[in-house]
Formats: sequence, structure tokens, C-alpha cells
Amino acid sequence: MASLLRAAGTWGLFPWRGYCSRGTQGELGKGFVEALKAVVGSPHVSTAAADCEQHGHDESIHRCQPPGAVVWPQNVEQVSRLAALCYSEGVPIIPFGTGTGLEGGVCAVQGGVCVNLTHMDRILKLNPEDFSVVVEPGVTRKVLNTYLRDSGLWFPVDPGADASLCGMVATAASGTNAVRYGTMRDNVLNLEVVLPDGRLLHTAGLGRHFRKSAAGYNLTGLFVGSEGTLGLITAATLRLHPAPEAMVAATCAFPSVQAAVDTTVHILQAAVPVARIEFLDEVMMDACNRHSQLNCSVAPTLFLEFHGSERALAEQIEQAEEITQHNGGSHFCWAKEAEERSRLWAARHNAWYAALALRPGCKGYSTDVCVPISRLPEILVQTKEDLKASGLTGTIVGHVGDGNFHCILVVDPEDPEELDRVKAFGKQLGRRALALHGTCTGEHGIGLGKQQLLQEEVGAVGMETMRQLKAMLDPRGLMNPGKVL
Ligand SMILES: Cc1cc2nc3c(=O)[nH]c(=O)nc-3n(C[C@H](O)[C@H](O)[C@H](O)COP(=O)(O)OP(=O)(O)OC[C@H]3O[C@@H](n4cnc5c(N)ncnc54)[C@H](O)[C@@H]3O)c2cc1C
Repeated sequence: MASLLRAAGTWGLFPWRGYCSRGTQGELGKGFVEALKAVVGSPHVSTAAADCEQHGHDESIHRCQPPGAVVWPQNVEQVSRLAALCYSEGVPIIPFGTGTGLEGGVCAVQGGVCVNLTHMDRILKLNPEDFSVVVEPGVTRKVLNTYLRDSGLWFPVDPGADASLCGMVATAASGTNAVRYGTMRDNVLNLEVVLPDGRLLHTAGLGRHFRKSAAGYNLTGLFVGSEGTLGLITAATLRLHPAPEAMVAATCAFPSVQAAVDTTVHILQAAVPVARIEFLDEVMMDACNRHSQLNCSVAPTLFLEFHGSERALAEQIEQAEEITQHNGGSHFCWAKEAEERSRLWAARHNAWYAALALRPGCKGYSTDVCVPISRLPEILVQTKEDLKASGLTGTIVGHVGDGNFHCILVVDPEDPEELDRVKAFGKQLGRRALALHGTCTGEHGIGLGKQQLLQEEVGAVGMETMRQLKAMLDPRGLMNPGKVL
């Protein structure tokens, strides 16, 4: 183990540059590019600047760092051969899903090969009686739910963006439905992973899709949230849920942030099985009204959704209405028809773009803290005050049912002073969450921007353990280098 760690340290810090024909980072030798073509076929390899630029960034504020080449494998055998090739030549590999990440996860900080997995887009096996499905990495959550439409089943994890399901595994994504149905951590049963040297791992055993297990270490859990740093996920077995018989959505405005968040806590404490409960501050509501042509009050607001039978819905709604009124909330504004509900949730999902529209030409930076639910009111009220005092342009929006919320800060990327203030705000908020026994990231991951906070969160022994795991699986430090650790 000690020698492995030593080797990994050396490779991690000074990765081989043998693949750089002229010693320039990211530039790949001609022979190596030919070898890539031999694996996936010429049409599926590109070194064109436009393709590399397009794959060198995600939706975050992190600057573009393009890979030396982009490849589009067609099957798992090709992924395995690509990994083995890169491993033997010491070339970094960066897995790419749909590029909707918010932490710079696909930036090629040491150059290398970006493996775009979107051509592997088959739904391999539906097991309706067992409530599970096996998907390739290019399948997105919307495509899966369209496929499931007539089966009476659905996959509820919903990060808003139409992300690839394996990208969602890699970032441990969640979103608006997590309060009722859990996050990706709760909904992945098995993974097929190509390890950095090309070997194939089935984290729960080949073809298995059981609901519970006490068989050894939780390898599946290790890869959920690994952000492309441990291997390439080439298939995921996901847990499905019965599609709800009926759904009702509503918005409710409150006189203060405190009142809205108290309502959330009380609804959860009363065990109302709410499916979605989302908070938007008044700045966010104003932006959504304009961006999505809504006509809601410009006030701290909760977006809620209830799922169940007609009878269960009536009961849930009655309980929730009682609690909101007790906290000074105005009456619910209902969206019962599917079209109305979609319009409401589309507005919520477009909150990121509504915030960006506050300062055209600027970029968005999203914080992502998550705290125990009992600490949510104090951190949200304090954050709102800090945001006002900071002079930054920002909104607050969040999956408050999980104790998770985002400040979307809209910043001029050409203004270094403003960028520094935004980063300082994010770090201060992260530290406040840690002080309240929370985490610096509920769902976006560590990526490039939160490595210091991760250290503070898990401590020295936690970091050492993570480094040892990384060294064991990726001794050459070639999988998505520069991320997480
Ligand atoms: C408007 C908007 C709203 C969003 N809202 C939410 C939200 O509510 N909740 C939430 O959780 N996220 C949210 N996100 C973030 C984003 O959608 C998620 O992080 C998503 O899981 C990223 O998936 P992707 O396929 O786009 O991954 P990418 O951005 O392509 O990659 C993300 C990371 O995963 C790695 N990766 C991707 N595919 C694989 C693979 N097959 N194997 C191994 N590693 C891989 C990459 O190397 C990278 O490190 C939002 C993003 C946007 C733009």
C-alpha cells in the first residue's frame, strides 16, 4: 500500500507528459491520436479546437480548459480499450455526460482525452416487477421517463437540467423530488464501471438488482458522487417508483424568509409526505415572474407538490394548509392540471436562467450548502442578510425540504474583484454550514471549487482515507485529475 501511495503521489503531482508531442499540456502526439482512432473509428475522434473547447467547460463559472482530444465510444468494450490505452500511455481521461455540471467537473486541467459517453444511449433492460431499469451512460432522465410513460413507473430524481443519468450518478445529483424519493445515493442499485486500467467492475455483481444487501463493502456507494475520478460509469441499474396516481402543485407566499422556512420545518415535522417543497426568495420570484411570465407575489415563496391517491392528497393538502396559515402564509395558489403544473415547475427549473437574466452577459455561481433541517431557518435568514450586505446580485432558491439551498450569484466574469467577492461569499457560507453540522455541497459536488471546504468538512483522517481509496483504484492519478481531492 505504501508503495502504491508513493507512486500515486508522484503521478498525481507530476503526471506523465509522454503524450504531449511538443511538451505542451493537452496536446496529444499524432501516434496516440491514431491509436484512439483505431479503438473507436476515425469519425468518433476529434482534435478540432471547437470540439475541445465545447468539452472543456460545463455550466459553471470555471474557465474553459479544453482536452487534447474528444472521443465518442460506441460500446463498453471501446471504453475499456480507451482506458487501457490511456493508462499505458499515462494520458488523463475526463468522462463527459451532458456538461450541465456546476463545479467545473469536466474541465481538462491537465489536458488529456475527454470521453463523451452520449453515443451509448440504450435502455438495456426494464424489470417492471422489480422496479428497476438498466441504462447506458448517454440516457438522460427525460428520455428515461418518456420511455417509462406507459409502464406505470417513473424515475423521480430531477435536477432540472436534462442531465445524463450516469452524470447524475457521478455527481450524486438530487433536485426537487429528493425530499420524498431520495437522491441518486438512494436510487442506484448497481453500476458497471470501467476502471482506469480498463478492467470492468460490476459494483454489486454482474446483473444483480436487489433492493438490499449486506454483502461486503458498498462499492456502488463509492462510485456515486465520485465525479469521474475513480472510473467511467458505463451502465447504471436504477431503482424505479410507481408513478403517482394524482399530483397537485401549489405556490404560497409568506411575509418573511423565516415564516417560509418555519413552514417547511413544521410540514416535515408533521410527517406530511410532501413530494416537493422548494423555497424562492423575493428576488428570485421577481426574476421568475419576468423570465417565465408568471404572475406570483414578489415575496418569499414556497413551491409545493403533493403525490398520492385523491383521498391521500386531500389529507396532505389540509394539513399543509393549516401549517402555512399558522405561519402567516397566504392561501395556496393551485396548479391541478398537468399543463399548469408543468408551467410552474418549468419556471422553477428555469430559475438559474431567470437569475442570469438579471444581468445579461454575466455568469452564474451557485452555492450548494445543506444543513440539518433544524438549522435551516437560522442559516437562511443569516444568508439573506449577508447577501443584502454584500452588494452582490444574487437570489436564493432551494430544496429546503432536504435542508439544501443555493445562492445564485450573478457575476461579471471579467471583473476579478467581483469574482473574488463571490468566491469569498461562497466560502463563508460553506463554513457557516459546516459550523452548523452541515455540508458544503448537497448535490453539485466538489469539482474544482470546494476542495478546501471538503478538507475542513471531513478532516485530516477523512482526506487521507479518500486519498488512499483514490490511489488504490487510480494509482497513476489519471482519472479526471485535479477534481475532488
Ligand atoms: C439549470 C441547472 C439546474 C441544475 N439543478 C440541479 C439540481 O437541482 N440538482 C442537482 O443535483 N444538480 C443540478 N444541476 C447540476 C447538473 O445538472 C448535475 O450535476 C448533473 O448531475 C450533471 O450531469 P451531466 O450528465 O451534465 O454531467 P457532466 O456535467 O457532463 O459531468 C459532471 C461530472 O461527472 C463526471 N461524469 C459524467 N458522466 C460520467 C460517467 N458516465 N462516468 C463517470 N463520470 C462521469 C464528469 O467527469 C464530471 O466530473 C443543475 C444544472 C443546471 C445547468
